[in-house]
This record gives sequence, structure tokens and C-alpha cells, in this order.
Amino acid sequence: MKVAVIGGGLSGLMAGRLLSESGFEVKVFEAQKNCGGLVASFTVQSFRIPIFYHHIFSHDETTLKVVKELGITDLIKRKIKMGLNLNSKSYPISYFSAPFWDFLSFSDKIRFGLLAAQVKMKKDWSDIEGINAEVWLNKTVGKNVARKIFGNIMREKYGLPLSRISASELAERLGEEEATGLFYYPKDGMDGMVSRLVESIESNGGEVKTGSPVTRVDLNNNKISSRENGKQKTEEADIIINTAPLPVLLRAAKGLPAAYAEKLKKIKYCRNICVDIGYREKLSDYYWLNCFDSAFGGIIEHTNLADIYPFKMAWIFKYAPSEQLWNMSDENVAKLFIRDAQKIYPRLEADWCRVFRSEHASPLYDIDYGKFMPGYETPLKNLFLSGVALTYPKIRTMNTALASGIKVAEIVKEKYGKRN
Ligand SMILES: Cc1cc2nc3c(=O)[nH]c(=O)nc-3n(C[C@H](O)[C@H](O)[C@H](O)COP(=O)(O)OP(=O)(O)OC[C@H]3O[C@@H](n4cnc5c(N)ncnc54)[C@H](O)[C@@H]3O)c2cc1C
Repeated sequence: MKVAVIGGGLSGLMAGRLLSESGFEVKVFEAQKNCGGLVASFTVQSFRIPIFYHHIFSHDETTLKVVKELGITDLIKRKIKMGLNLNSKSYPISYFSAPFWDFLSFSDKIRFGLLAAQVKMKKDWSDIEGINAEVWLNKTVGKNVARKIFGNIMREKYGLPLSRISASELAERLGEEEATGLFYYPKDGMDGMVSRLVESIESNGGEVKTGSPVTRVDLNNNKISSRENGKQKTEEADIIINTAPLPVLLRAAKGLPAAYAEKLKKIKYCRNICVDIGYREKLSDYYWLNCFDSAFGGIIEHTNLADIYPFKMAWIFKYAPSEQLWNMSDENVAKLFIRDAQKIYPRLEADWCRVFRSEHASPLYDIDYGKFMPGYETPLKNLFLSGVALTYPKIRTMNTALASGIKVAEIVKEKYGKRN
């Protein structure tokens, strides 16, 4: 049975690996020259570096399991330092850091400390289900902390105001120790995971076609067309699994029921721009610095998790950029970000710099997202979906992408049987 997987990101590659292992004839179509999607890498002096910052959290069970299964054992494991930068001054973020935040009043510090203790201890947040994060935080930590800290971080990371984020999901996320936990990074980079997934599909007899954007998915006639070397090629597929961003499927699909297409259109995405820079001397001890009054939202200094290149490097990122910023040339974005980064780190001098953008960096997990989130199965028996648009309330990570690939493979296997 022929399975066409649209998208060679982690979700598509994981589904491809498992289905090819089970005897399905798998063909993965990837639009870009390299697989990996959001976790694809670029090369500097023969080192493969993720285009967007990436680390593995200690609670990412699926990622850690997959990494182990792929034979990647050399993992850097480090407790990272997270901070926030306000008015050109950097402050540590941890459960115990509020006393050092001179931009908060004494009572704000106490309230923040109480919330930190609560998210660390409490596991069941059903009492605040249905409430938005703004209402919950205004009540628990007060408007000032809600706006200055959480409002800024959430806007920068998820592109949404607190009023559009679910309080219970935010509380759970805060309890996941993102700010204080152990972070992992494979010594041979994230590219090792991507290339081993590709190899496993190929060694199971499957095919991974890069530089082959899918342009048409004819669901009535089980046909999939892609552009290869400037030419259109149409092939047959019994099953199609879409892992590409949903607007891509909506543009290519012929034969989607209109009401279903309308439902998929509700999934909106947040953009991201990342300026990747290399330099000689490390900038600070912070791995992750949230920046509240810069042109960007944060700086992630890779060196402070994985000091594995003969140079130091950082990603300067901005989620949900304004239209004006999005439309700027790469050169001007780089100039702007580096200039603002120099206000925080005056001795920063970039030896090299690359700009990467994603139109579909993350689904916008709006408070009502669960109401319109599509499932893995669709109204058409030959079409399945996978990817991080389907994993809410678990938000987009490599972990949820891999887990969604595993889930869709299980569903397909259950429906169509193991092929060997
Ligand atoms: C800035 C940033 C930082 C992140 N940091 C982390 C982190 O530190 N830790 C973590 O765990 N996660 C992180 N993530 C999230 C993680 O990268 C994603 O959740 C995960 O990679 C998504 O995988 P996916 O396969 O679902 O989607 P994608 O990676 O988006 O894969 C979809 C694939 O479809 C392809 N495609 C698109 N159109 C077509 C077409 N027409 N034909 C064929 N193929 C097509 C794309 O090229 C892409 O390869 C980060 C994401 C971003 C944006």
C-alpha cells in the first residue's frame, strides 16, 4: 500500500519511519532542499547548526526515547540560566528570583513568589479551566506582574495576548519547569536526528524526496503532484498524510469537503524571524534571555548549552513580527537586531550572520483552539493529518511533533493492517 507523506519535518519523518518499518511503501515529499522543517540545519565551517534555536527539555519523553532508538547517545545535559532584560538590565528568572527584581514592588515580589510555589506544587488546574490567563494572573499576581512579566513573555513566544491564552494550560506549562529544568542537546546537532530518521526510511525501502514541493493533492483520484527540477510529476498514493502547515494543504487539495476545509482554515499560524550570529567571546551566562524592549523577543546563546564549535553563537529571535518587520530585507533585519543586541551586550561583534524566517512557525494556540482543532483522521478515508497543529493542549515542540508522527502511524496501521 502506497503512503505519500507531505512534509519531511519531524512529524512526517517519524510517521514515514514507522510505516516503512511496517511494510508500507512510503514516499516523503519535502519542499526544501533538506529535511527537518523547523529543525532543519545550516552549515558554518562544516558544523551543522539548527536554523532556529532548539533544545530538548528533560520532560520531552518521546524525543529522548526517539533519540536513543536512533542511536544518539552523546547528549549534552545542562541546567541552563534563563533571564529577562528590561531597560537594558538583565535579571535571572527562576522560581526564587523575584526578590532580585527591582522593577517590582515588595508586594508584587511576594505574590510572584507565591505563584511560583503554587505552580511547582499543584498538579490539577481544573478549578481555573475556561478562564483566560489575564483574568487568572491579574487575580493571583496582580496587573503589574501579569502585564510586565507574563504578558511580555507570552506575546513574544506565542504571539497572543494573555486574554487569548487559557489559564489552566499556562499554569501547567509554568509547572513544567521550562525555566529551571535541565536542557539537552545532541553533540552532533539536531541534524543527526533528522538524517537518521531519513536513513531509516530509506533502509526500510521508502523514499524521501527533497526539493519536491507538493503542488496538488487530488483526493478524488488518489493522486499527488509535486514539482521536481522545475517539472510537474504526478504519482498515485493510496493514503496521504499531510504534516505540512494546513494552509499548504488547503492550497493544494482538490476534493476536500467544503465544511471541513472551512474548519481547517480556522487554524492560524504565528511567524518567526531568527537572526543567527557567530562571534568570538561569550556574551553572558544566560542561555535564554527574554528581551522586553528590543526589536526582537529574545536571545538564545547556544554556547551556554552547547559550546561545541570553534566560535560562539546565538539565535536572536522574534515571534509574531509586525508586517513592517516581516517585510524588511534580511540585511536590514540583521542590522536592526544586532544593533539592539549591542545595547544589551555592547561588546558584541558578529563575525557571521544568517537570517531565517518561517511563515508557519507555530499554530496560534488561541484559548478556543481545542474547539476547532482537527483530528488525525479526516472525512476522507485516504487523507490523514499529523503535526503540531493537532497536539493541543500540548504545545508545539519536537516532542509533540514526533508524538504526532507516532500517533498517525498507529492509526494508519490499525486501519490498514500491518503490511509485513
Ligand atoms: C523558533 C522556533 C524555536 C523552536 N525551539 C524548539 C525547541 O527548543 N525545542 C523543541 O522541542 N521544539 C522547538 N520548536 C518547535 C519544533 O521545531 C516544532 O514543533 C517541530 O519541528 C514541528 O515539526 P513538524 O514536522 O510538525 O512541522 P515542520 O517542521 O513545520 O515540518 C513541515 C514540513 O513540511 C514541509 N512542507 C511545507 N510545504 C510543503 C509542500 N508543499 N510540499 C512538501 N513539503 C512541504 C516543510 O518544508 C517542513 O519540512 C521551535 C520552533 C520554532 C519555530
